[in-house]
Amino acid sequence: MLRITASVARTGCAVGMARVRLLLRRRRLAACVLPVCLLLAGCADKPKDIHQSLFIFGTLVDITVHGTPEDQAATAIAAVDEDFQYMHREWHAWKPGGELVKLNRRLAAGETTTVSDFLLPLLLQARTLSIQSDGLFNPAIGRLIALWGFQSDEPPPGPPPSAESIDALVAGKPDMQALAIEGNLVSSINPLVQLDLGGFAKGYALNQAIARLHSLGVDNAIVNAGGDLCVSGRHGDRLWQVGIRHPQGEGVIAALAVADGECVLTSGNYERYREYEDVRYAHILDPRNGWPVRHVASATVIHADGGVADAAATALTVAGPDDWRRIARRMGLVYVMLVDEVGTVYLSPAMAERIQFAKGQGAAVIVAEP
Ligand code: ADP
Ligand code: MG
Repeated sequence: MLRITASVARTGCAVGMARVRLLLRRRRLAACVLPVCLLLAGCADKPKDIHQSLFIFGTLVDITVHGTPEDQAATAIAAVDEDFQYMHREWHAWKPGGELVKLNRRLAAGETTTVSDFLLPLLLQARTLSIQSDGLFNPAIGRLIALWGFQSDEPPPGPPPSAESIDALVAGKPDMQALAIEGNLVSSINPLVQLDLGGFAKGYALNQAIARLHSLGVDNAIVNAGGDLCVSGRHGDRLWQVGIRHPQGEGVIAALAVADGECVLTSGNYERYREYEDVRYAHILDPRNGWPVRHVASATVIHADGGVADAAATALTVAGPDDWRRIARRMGLVYVMLVDEVGTVYLSPAMAERIQFAKGQGAAVIVAEP
């Protein structure tokens, strides 16, 4: 499942923006966000970065550590690697063998299940976030996600599912309110509830990774899973800097300094989708009608809690340009950026203060208080 793609290595010096662009082009998997600073910063006479890539969650996870002895960093990264493998197996919605798959089977059968202390906090937080998002982040729609073929490594070719089959599942109203959680006992009054934590677990896991690194003495790090990242500490005498990939096309739309303890999560329509007769069907579904979201290209959220940021980015993608402010308000978000299908950028005022558009970007920007 997980492959070490590079051994612990020092990042090279004298790497400029051209190289960043090249990397962005070459490593499509790796990200809408890159730790730009570690490539751009002058490295002479400074503590070296230690950089390692893991393949997990269907993407490359890049871990960069600053100012920790190499041996210690390698031990800590190996621990994170092990944690990620375990999370991936246990929290996967459809690959057999993990706890979530077993829970889903029992929910479908109307049975009550004792879940582990490892899974329980995810369920509790996902339920809270789903309610806060007015159900636009809805991890109970596993059946719809499966119907669309997004519970597979490669989305299927061919026409979309029939409107009748979609409507039938939407009419069954699978939502997180149906989930009863008492202590570790979990059941659902609605057997159509099937949990898919794909819009949330990655952000949650990134926070856990930063905590694990801290516990092993690594205080300056960036953990970047395909463009979704959390950071700790600083990059030497400055903050970590990242670039946010442009949702339409190559390159970076904006750069951003990320403070100690912050996470930056992006949901996008652009990476995973199925296509039929020139229509793209994105993997983020609007739970209200069961169809893929069309209007938004990407939503980015900064938050100290990676799980909140991840769920919120998914919910904002569903909400779109007309409704994002309501959802941001409901979820108490401060830093929000949306990019729609024609490239218009919507920013909360606090986000507008923080980002720097790349050259030629940011021509159409709408700043609005959530
Ligand atoms: P990304 O994969 O770009 O990080 P998300 O964080 O939004 O995007 O996660 C998308 C995944 O979340 C989908 O593959 C699916 O498993 C799940 N999902 C799709 N639509 C929703 C939704 N409305 N609410 C919750 N989860 C969703
Ligand atoms: Mg998400």
